[in-house]
Amino acid sequence: MSLASYPVQTLDLHFQGAPSIIAAFLIRSSAGPILVETGPASTYEALASGLKGAGVEPESVRHVLVTHIHLDHAGAAWRLARHGATVYVHPVGAPHMHDPSRLLASARKIYKETMDPLWGPLEPIPAERIRPLTDGEVLRFGDVAIEVLFTPGHAIHHSAFRLDGALFTGDIGGVRIDGGPPIAPCPPPDIDIETWKDSLARLRKVRPEVLYLTHFGPFSEAQEHFDALEWNLRSLSEWVLGRLRAGVAEADLVPLLDAYSSGYLDGSKRGEALGRSYALANPFFMSAAGLARYWRKAHPEAIEPRA
Ligand SMILES: [Zn+2]
Repeated sequence: MSLASYPVQTLDLHFQGAPSIIAAFLIRSSAGPILVETGPASTYEALASGLKGAGVEPESVRHVLVTHIHLDHAGAAWRLARHGATVYVHPVGAPHMHDPSRLLASARKIYKETMDPLWGPLEPIPAERIRPLTDGEVLRFGDVAIEVLFTPGHAIHHSAFRLDGALFTGDIGGVRIDGGPPIAPCPPPDIDIETWKDSLARLRKVRPEVLYLTHFGPFSEAQEHFDALEWNLRSLSEWVLGRLRAGVAEADLVPLLDAYSSGYLDGSKRGEALGRSYALANPFFMSAAGLARYWRKAHPEAIEPRA
């Protein structure tokens, strides 16, 4: 099947006014429209107008699937739930959609006063509007069948979704914007390199024809993409390990990682503008914190071999 033959439409949410940072995907089924990812509440108007542009009234969306509960993926789910949509989410993420207070508190700690302009408000979703997912189950919506693949590594509560040869990869499939290379987004607190690699192995086995990346859009060379993403994941995490071994403080890691990642991007088409887009999709300070936490928690002996 070619890209055009999948009943999927990519909606650009114009996060922070920029193109190609965060996507939501509209799937048409004989049982009505299905949404994969919602973006944050701050881009709900863009989501609504994208749906309307596609001939779909936002109020008519009854099924909303989210790959994980991070605000850039599921932050507007509550708004669709208010119109009567059911939100399909990993069982570990589900309680935080029902009671987002802990999610909000930890995001506020990271984003401080930029929290509201970046992400918008987050409201609880009633339990009856939340449908926890099961690994391997197939959700049937009329003529559309979507397989659920639990894929931890970026977040413990991450799922990918498969519709025939189309794979919705959330963040486990990395960030790849506008002709740039794939980069693994590594925010705290769940990053686990081994688990991430296992999840990629699982996704490779599906032999997808098209990857739908939330950051950003369809990409059809799946195996090549996974190769490059795995390389980036390894090189990024080993680079951070090297700095931690050398005794670099976490705060000093941020500008270094920023520079390192810019170098990686410069090798591709247009360094600077691309760097800004990647940083909007996943700020590098998040990956510095996430990877430092991973090494300290999972492999402290790797940082100080003879301690
Ligand atoms: Zn994301």
